[in-house]
Amino acid sequence: MKIKCKKYGEIIEGDKKGTYITCKCKAVAIDETPYYWRINGNMENFEEVKEDNNGVKNDKKK
Ligand SMILES: [Zn+2]
Repeated sequence: MKIKCKKYGEIIEGDKKGTYITCKCKAVAIDETPYYWRINGNMENFEEVKEDNNGVKNDKKK
């Protein structure tokens, strides 16, 4: 999942491998694995970025 740091508008994304990813200003951080994700930081410093219609994930190759 992706979150946006509201302080600088930076978007960071969990890599699903458990890597602890921090935004540049270190206000928020995300740590995502296939099983769960965690966000560190104050609620008012980030928002979730929805990625529904953005990009085609299922490109079917035959
Ligand atoms: Zn930041």
